[in-house]
Amino acid sequence: MKSTQSKKSDRHLGLSTLQDISAIILKSHDLNETITNIVDLVAQRAKSDVCSLYLLDNDNLTLTLRATKGLDKAAIGKVSLKIGEGLTGTVAADKQVLALQEPQNHPAYRYFSETGEEKFHTFVGIPLLDRNHAIGVLVIQTRIAHDFTEEELATLSTIAFQVASIVVNARLLDAIDQFQLPMPEPAEPQQESADTDSDTQPQTIRGKSAYPGVAIGPANVIDQKYGFADILEECNVDPEHESRLLDKALRQTRIQTLYLEKRVAEKLTQEDAAIFHTHLMILEDRGFIDRLHSKIDAGHSAPYALKKVIGDYIDAFGQMEDAYLRERAADMEDIGRRLLANLTGKATDGLHLNHPGILVAKRLLPSDMAILDHEKIQGMVLESNEANAHSVIMAKALGIPAVIGVKGAVSLIQPDVTVILDANTGSIYQNPHPTVIEEYQRLEQDRQQEQERLSCLRDLPAETSDRVKINLRANIGLVSDVSVAQQNGAEGVGLYRTEFPYMTRKSFPDRQDQYLLYKRIIQEFDGLPVTIRTLDIGGDKVLPYFAMPNEDNPFMGWRSVRISLENRQIFQTQIEAILMAALHGPVKLLFPMISNMEEIRACKQIVTAAKQSLRDEGIPFSDKVPLGAMIEVPAAVRIARHLAKEVDFFALGTNDLIQYLLAADRSNSKVEKYYDPLHPAVMLSLHGIAEAAREQNISVCVCGEMATDPICLFAMIGLGIHEFSLSAPYIPQLKHLIRRINSEQAQAVASQALDKADSHEIRSLLEAAVAGLPESPLPC
Ligand code: PEP
Ligand code: MG
Repeated sequence: MKSTQSKKSDRHLGLSTLQDISAIILKSHDLNETITNIVDLVAQRAKSDVCSLYLLDNDNLTLTLRATKGLDKAAIGKVSLKIGEGLTGTVAADKQVLALQEPQNHPAYRYFSETGEEKFHTFVGIPLLDRNHAIGVLVIQTRIAHDFTEEELATLSTIAFQVASIVVNARLLDAIDQFQLPMPEPAEPQQESADTDSDTQPQTIRGKSAYPGVAIGPANVIDQKYGFADILEECNVDPEHESRLLDKALRQTRIQTLYLEKRVAEKLTQEDAAIFHTHLMILEDRGFIDRLHSKIDAGHSAPYALKKVIGDYIDAFGQMEDAYLRERAADMEDIGRRLLANLTGKATDGLHLNHPGILVAKRLLPSDMAILDHEKIQGMVLESNEANAHSVIMAKALGIPAVIGVKGAVSLIQPDVTVILDANTGSIYQNPHPTVIEEYQRLEQDRQQEQERLSCLRDLPAETSDRVKINLRANIGLVSDVSVAQQNGAEGVGLYRTEFPYMTRKSFPDRQDQYLLYKRIIQEFDGLPVTIRTLDIGGDKVLPYFAMPNEDNPFMGWRSVRISLENRQIFQTQIEAILMAALHGPVKLLFPMISNMEEIRACKQIVTAAKQSLRDEGIPFSDKVPLGAMIEVPAAVRIARHLAKEVDFFALGTNDLIQYLLAADRSNSKVEKYYDPLHPAVMLSLHGIAEAAREQNISVCVCGEMATDPICLFAMIGLGIHEFSLSAPYIPQLKHLIRRINSEQAQAVASQALDKADSHEIRSLLEAAVAGLPESPLPC
C-alpha cells in the first residue's frame, strides 16, 4: 500500500491535548479510569485506529495491556509480553521511541490474536520511563500508513511522561495501602519551651556550609507553631459537619496547590513546579480521601482524622527502602500542613517575611520556597542536614549563603535579633558583640574595596612577571555561576559540573534539554573555551530520581564514570547533547574519576557511537571536541603516562585526589588535619602528572579548590602547570599574585619542595617565597 503522508491539520496532537490530559489527570480518582480516558483522548486526537497502554507487572519483566481504544477490550489484563518481546517489548527494552510503517516487516514483530488485531500499517511505541526504568509503553497503530512528525512524537512523549508520573503516583499510594501500621499514640501537645531571658547574649552556633558567603541581618525565624501537635482527640463531634469541613478544605487546598504550581513555574522552572502536580494527585486520590472520611465516620474530628492519616502516610514513606520514596514523606507533611491550615482557618502565616533578613527554619518544603519572597532572604539557616533538599538546591541557584544541619536553630535563634551568617565557615553569630559586627563589616568592606581595586585587572591576561601566560578559568555548576564567572574575568570554564542541573530536576533531562542548557552556557562565554564534565554523581551527590545502592563507603563505591558506563543510554545521550552544543563554541569533553585504561577507552567508544548515532539521525554536531580524563584517583597518577596517550588533555581534580591519596575524607572535619594539599605525596603526584602531560604534549588544568590557595598556586606554577579552574571570586586576587611571580624562580622553589619529606618544611619554603615576591603596582 502506498504510504500516505499525514497532514498536520488532520491531527490535533498539540498543546490542547496536553492540557486536556492534565484535566483528565486532575479529575481522575483511580488509575484505570485515568488511563482509559487518556487512551480514548489520544486515539481521537491522533486520529489513530488504536491507542493502547501496556504497564509493567510487579515481576518487573512482563508488560500487560491495561487500557485500549481500538483493540478488543476483552484483551485488557490478558495480553502480556515480556520486555524485549514483540515491538512493544522492544520499546520497553530499548527505552526508546519506535515509529514504523509496515510493522509486520520488523524482525521483532509478533501477532496477538486475542486483541482482534488486524493489519496495521503504522506502529508507534513510546516508553513510559520512571527514573530511567521502563514502566510501560504507549502504543499507537493506524490502518492507513502515517508519518508522525517530530512534533507529534514529542507531544506523545510528553503524554507518556505524564502517564508515567500518574502510574508512579498510583503505585506509591498502593505501596502505602500495603502498610498496616499500628496507629501512633496521639502526640502530646508540645510545650512551649520555658524561655529564659538570654536573648541578648552573644552566642555562636555551628552548622555545615551549603553555599558560601556572608550575610548580616535580623533573623526571620519561621517556626510553624501551629501544627498537628496541637490537635487533640475530640468527643461528640458531628460526623456530617466534619465531613463537610473536610471537603471544603480539600477544595481550597487543591486550588491553592494549582496556584503554587503556577507560581513556582513562573519563578523557577516547570520541573521545579512538577512536585505540586504530584500533590494535586494525592489530594484527588480516592484512597486518601476515603481514609480521611472513614476516620471521621469512626467519630473523630476532621483535623484529628487528618493528623492520623497523614501520620500513617509519613510513617509508611519514612520506612521505605528506596530513598526517592522516603523523600515523599516530606510531600505528605507539606500537604497535611496546608490542609490543616484550611481546616482550622489558622493559616501558616509564619511564612510571611516582614523584612529582609536571615531565614531560620527547621526545614523548608518545596511549597515554602514557593511562598517565600526570595528577595527578602539574605541568608538561610536550616536545622535539617539535607544538602540536596530542593530548598537548598533552590537557595544555591538563587545565590543565597546557606548553613544547614544547625541543631535547634529555631529555638536557639530569637526572632529579629541580629545575626551574622558566615557560610564560609558554617558559623552563625547571634547577638554578636558590636566589635564582631564591625569586624565582619570591615572584612566585607575590605573585600568589596579589594574587588573594586582589582577590577582593573579583569580584562588583562594573567601573566607572570617573565611573561608566562597562565589561564584562569571558572568552575561552574548552575547557570547563576556564569555571571559570577564573567564579572571576575574568568577566561572560560575549566570545569562545568553538569550534575548540578540534573539535581534540580524531577527526572533525567532529555537530549534536547541538555543541548539547550549547554548551548546557553557556551554562548554566554562567547568564544572562550568551556570544559564540560560528564555526570559525576555518587559520593555525596545524589539525584532524587536515581536510586543509589546503600554502600558502606560511597566515595570508594559506585560513583562517577562507573555509573555512567553502566547506564549507557544516559551517558550517550549526554555526550550527544555536548557534541551538538559544541557547534556553538570551543568545547572540551571531560570524563571524571578515570582509574584505568579500559574506562577511558570505553568512554571514547561511546563518543564514537554517539557521533555515529547523530550522523544517522542527520543531526549536526562538532567532530572536533577534545577529550580529557580527570586525574583524581592515585591509580590514574601512576599510569598518567599511559593515559596521556589516550586523551587530548588532563584535568587534575585535587579535591578527590588529596582525599584518596591521604585517606582523608574531604568532608569530614575530624580528619581535616590529614587533608593536606602540601603533603609531599601530593606534590610528587602533581609533578608526575605535569611531566606525563609534557611528554605527550597535552595540556593539564588543575580544577580543585587547592588552586585558590596562593602558596599552592605558586608551587603548581613552579611545577610547570599553567592552567587553573577555580571558584571565580578568587580570580582577581590570584591574577594579581601571578603578575608578581617569576616563573623561573617558582620552578627553583618547587624543585626544592619536591625534595622535602614533610609538609611543614614545604609550607615554610613556599610561604617564604610568596612573602618575598616583589610588589607589582596595579595598572590603574
Ligand atoms: C575534584 O575532585 O577536584 C573536582 C574538581 O571535582 P569535584 O569537586 O566535583 O569532585
Ligand atoms: Mg572529583
